[in-house]
Parts: sequence; structure tokens; C-alpha cells
Amino acid sequence: MEEKKLVVLTHGGAGSDPAFADGTAIAGQVCMMSLQSGDPVIDATCHAVAALEDDGRFNAGIGSHKRNDGTVQMDASCMDSAGTFGAVAALEGFKNPVRVARIVSQSEYKILAGRGANQFAADQGCETFLPHQVAKTGADFSTTDTVGCVVRSGDQFACALSTGGIDKAVPGRVGDVPLIGCGLYAGADGAVATTGAGEVIAMKVTALRAYQLLERGMHPQAVVATVIAWFEETTAFGIIVVSKNGFAGGANRGMAWTASEMVANREGDEPRSRNLRGGVEGRGRSG
Ligand code: ASP
Repeated sequence: MEEKKLVVLTHGGAGSDPAFADGTAIAGQVCMMSLQSGDPVIDATCHAVAALEDDGRFNAGIGSHKRNDGTVQMDASCMDSAGTFGAVAALEGFKNPVRVARIVSQSEYKILAGRGANQFAADQGCETFLPHQVAKTGADFSTTDTVGCVVRSGDQFACALSTGGIDKAVPGRVGDVPLIGCGLYAGADGAVATTGAGEVIAMKVTALRAYQLLERGMHPQAVVATVIAWFEETTAFGIIVVSKNGFAGGANRGMAWTASEMVANREGDEPRSRNLRGGVEGRGRSG
């Protein structure tokens, strides 16, 4: 009987505390349950990222860093291998930017920014939050800690990202997260989600170039090692990758990330699942 492989990887950002891998694992479980219930792969991926936005320990959603004027501006995006893409940039006052990005992906637009993104989210009835509800994590804000997810569901792939950006950046600063092919990319050969210094990631068109390595048949573990080597040690960078050949993740500093896999047959028999890894990886290593 034909089997369908489900693979979910979630990360808490380059520089995130590896002790927070419980949060990435829970987000992965949320995604798996969504896939099992028959949700489209891009929706399941966004559910994982929304769970990370709600965690409060990561730099996204209620855990977002503040700009140098005390405001919270967030970027988020989602993409799937069917060619769906949507993103928001410098969104303010909404609890789950990734859900707004998902709604954008279903509209006539691809990226909405600033005041227009806020109005769009309000018109769509997206859940709001107030600045005082942003979690005081007390984390080391020299790190970045954005969140992301990549998913394989049979022959379909998806990815999503969300971030509060760089701590104390000027209002209006936008990094790699909402830029297709920079922070994320998904296609028929796999999905890629990155984290780290957004300006450097964007200038290297990192996610698309990583995806092109998958297209050429490179194993995800080799892709992770190759792409991490594109970045200086002093530049925070992390990446998670899934393809039909496997999965991998890694960073040039600590990163909470987890992966799980499930094999279900398409007739709905009891699935077999296993957690494949959790915790932190050092430079150049992958799992
Ligand atoms: N890449 C994000 C940004 O530059 C930050 C991060 O990944 O932590 O906005």
C-alpha cells in the first residue's frame, strides 16, 4: 500500500537557547496533528510557526524584540511547492503575523507592508495584541531568535518564517524574512528556512541558492554544511532543510531546533511516528 511520508522541522532561530527545544518540539507536534487532520501543508506549516509566535521565548509574535523607539514591528512569510507565497513586513499590533501572511498568500497580493498590512489584517479580523503584552523574555538580545518551519507531506513541501527583526533596529527596517528566495523557498524538490542576520542572508539570496543545491540532488546535510560556510563566523546564521532525500538543520551558533517524521499510508491506517532529534548544533554540523 502506498505510504506518505510526513517530515516536520522547526527552529527557534540562530542564537536561540537550545533549552527551548521543547518549544520547537511542541510546534512540530501542532504541525503533525494538522497534517494528520488533512489540512493543506502550508496551513499546517503556518500553525507550527503560530505556536512559536505564541511561545514568548522566541523573537516572534509576543516574544518580539523592540525597535529603537520601543515599537514592535514584525515580518512573516509562507510558501509552498505549488507556488503559493505571501508575506507581511513591519506589521504592528497583531498576535500572529504568520496568519496574516497566509491570508495575504490567498489574496491578489504577495507582500503587504506597514500601515497597509495593519489595515489588511484588521479588515480580515486577525487577532490583535497590545505592546504591553509583548513578553519580557530577558533573553540575550545580541542573538536573533527568529522562528521557522519546513515540512514535507508526501511529494509536497512548504515553509514559513516569523520574526520581530533585529533588536533596536530603526522602525521600518525589514530583513530577509518576507523576501522570497532570501529567508525561505519551497519547490518540488524541497523546502528551506533560514535565520540570522537578515541583510546578509538577503544579499546572498540564500534560500533560493540553497534550494538550487537540492534541485541538483545534493543531500540536505551537505546543503546545510555548504550554506553555513557561506557566512562568516561573526554573522549569525542558521538553516533547516527538507527534501525527498532527507532533512537537516544547523547553525554557526546555538539553535533550538527539532525534527519529527511520520509514515502514514494513504488509506488512513494507524501512522508510525518518531522524533528524530532535538537540541542544538554547532557550526557546520547537521542532523
Ligand atoms: N532574519 C531575521 C531578520 O533579519 C532575524 C532572525 O532570523 O533571527 O529579520
